[in-house]
Amino acid sequence: MSKRRILSGMRPTGKLHLGNLHGALQNWVALQNNGGYECFYFIADWHALTSEYNNTGSLKEDTRDMVIDWLSVGLDPHVSTLFVQSSIKEHAELYTLLSMITPLSWLERNPTYKEMRSELADKDLSTFGFLGYPVLQAADILMYKAYGVPVGVDQLPHVELTREIARRFNYLYGEIFPVPEPLLAEVPKLLGIDGRKMSKSYDNAIYLSDGGKVLEQKIASMFTDPQRMRKSDSGRPERCNVFTFHQIYSSEADIEAIAQDCRGAAVGCVECKRRLAGRISERMKPINERQEYYRNHLAELDDIIADGNERARTIARLTMKEVRDAVRI
Ligand code: SF4
Repeated sequence: MSKRRILSGMRPTGKLHLGNLHGALQNWVALQNNGGYECFYFIADWHALTSEYNNTGSLKEDTRDMVIDWLSVGLDPHVSTLFVQSSIKEHAELYTLLSMITPLSWLERNPTYKEMRSELADKDLSTFGFLGYPVLQAADILMYKAYGVPVGVDQLPHVELTREIARRFNYLYGEIFPVPEPLLAEVPKLLGIDGRKMSKSYDNAIYLSDGGKVLEQKIASMFTDPQRMRKSDSGRPERCNVFTFHQIYSSEADIEAIAQDCRGAAVGCVECKRRLAGRISERMKPINERQEYYRNHLAELDDIIADGNERARTIARLTMKEVRDAVRI
């Protein structure tokens, strides 16, 4: 049976944090290792420009850093196709053609459009590129005729928009594109050290590359159960972000013991955090070793990216030939 193709991308925000790892990357690795999917994962560097158009100095370096992290957590370039969006110029051509048939009202009603504009109020996002980024996403997905798109709940409206654009194209020019399905995964909600969403821009993230003292200090400064002021107060692990991390990094027996000791005031937060730092550090060790390897073998990294680009380009060329014929252009 042929494998089902899936596609997903990430903006090159530089080194990745644990929120990225557990919110998306681990799911990507699981889909890759599932055996039933042909996985395409790309660095969405044009998408980065939709909000960071005036801040492009580190884009190339960030792209490399991100691919290093992808490889280090288990994405295998012999199994998955890893590529860079801006290296496949066909995406720009399909984006142009799709933008011709996408009603403005579909973009204006996109719920994340308004949300992101208010969230990123310090940036001027009243640009054509920012309004139109879901069309670029549609081009990315449809280019590879993806069966599915692994996404979080907040990305569902974008996949829906891609589905509408695919249907409209097929209606106008003939059945070229399969209508892609969103593939939702259960992901743990890991907050940053200050209790807000983990994000590079909030300066509250724990990075895959954090180790030793940096990791210990970050964990030590994490918010805990706000009602637990002293060690003698009983705690509520279900209200504590440190405990959420333990649920990922500690053994079943340890998780149970921590929950019990926290409620019974038998363990203090300092000790609980110290144990967590140890567990994370253990789990990150092989990842950090692979990061180190690729940082010292940048030519090999560039070959991996070039190979992925070539594989993606081959498919993109075939799709664009079909698209041009259908549009008669
Ligand atoms: S003991 Fe651990 S789980 Fe309990 S409140 Fe402190 S840090 Fe959180």
